Amino acid sequence: MTETTQTGGTLPVAQHSAAHAVVRLPPGLYFVATPIGAARDITLRGLDILASADLLAAEDTRTLRHLLDIHGVALSGRPLIAYHDHNGAAVRPRILRALAEGKSVAYASEAGTPLVADPGFQLGRAALAAGAPVFAAPGPSAVLAALTVSGLPSDRFLFAGFPPATKAARKSWLTAIKDVQATLIFYESPKRVCQLLIDLAQCLGGERQAVVARELTKRFEEVRRGTVSELAAGFSGQSVKGEIVVLVDRAAMAPAGLDEVEAALRDRLARMRVKEAATEVAEALGVPRRDVYQMALRLEAEE
Ligand code: SAM
Repeated sequence: MTETTQTGGTLPVAQHSAAHAVVRLPPGLYFVATPIGAARDITLRGLDILASADLLAAEDTRTLRHLLDIHGVALSGRPLIAYHDHNGAAVRPRILRALAEGKSVAYASEAGTPLVADPGFQLGRAALAAGAPVFAAPGPSAVLAALTVSGLPSDRFLFAGFPPATKAARKSWLTAIKDVQATLIFYESPKRVCQLLIDLAQCLGGERQAVVARELTKRFEEVRRGTVSELAAGFSGQSVKGEIVVLVDRAAMAPAGLDEVEAALRDRLARMRVKEAATEVAEALGVPRRDVYQMALRLEAEE
């Protein structure tokens, strides 16, 4: 019997296979991320938790059972119950009871990370409110997989989830986030992807760089890149299948006017040195540092 540190201090008590171990899990709710395509994209710790929790809950019990079969994880008489948007209120008390009894509960959504456009939020809140610890077994999520392959800036991104289905609601929703200085990331159904690109062109501008990532980690994975308008034209009239993430580059910053640069510099020169003030203003307003530095020297000389 080996002792390793897993799941915040759990001890393996038996070895089931090379891939996973049955471990003694501390009581609590474990959100386990599962593959978004390739079945082997599950972490070893995720498998350990699924092999060890006292109670398993899943958005779709058949999907989880299939994943367990693929990886040779036995249920061994442990209950596997359905927990999803439609039965959450009715099933939560059973899960909370198990947590109150000091049991470990593993929850997996249909695919990817629970709570990310998937059930789990209310369950997590209820567990925390009841004083039960909540743990994550992190792993796949389409939002991060798409950002990774997109080639768009990854320093800051806004995961916006599924846009509203009706046209009017979608347009005002898109308009509200159009100036956010971050890569915008949407989940969308294949039926609506072309309409979303058309609406993006209208609300955000057709010239922005965008990416449509389809069927990531699966056999027919495809990543299309171009401006929003080019992608909308490319998808027009096509019947699209599979799961899709749409990403859009941030809005270009309007070049700052001289007045704006001067005001920002005066503000900073009151509390910092010329060099620091110039660097900060250049970064904040996206203007060349050399020009800002020259202006800062002039303003300093005027004082
Ligand atoms: N919880 C999941 C996650 O962490 O990404 C998301 C669940 S949400 C109900 C399903 C949506 O995620 C799909 O409609 C699609 O937008 C996106 N998605 C899931 N798997 C994907 C894949 N393999 N390739 C591209 N998008 C995917």
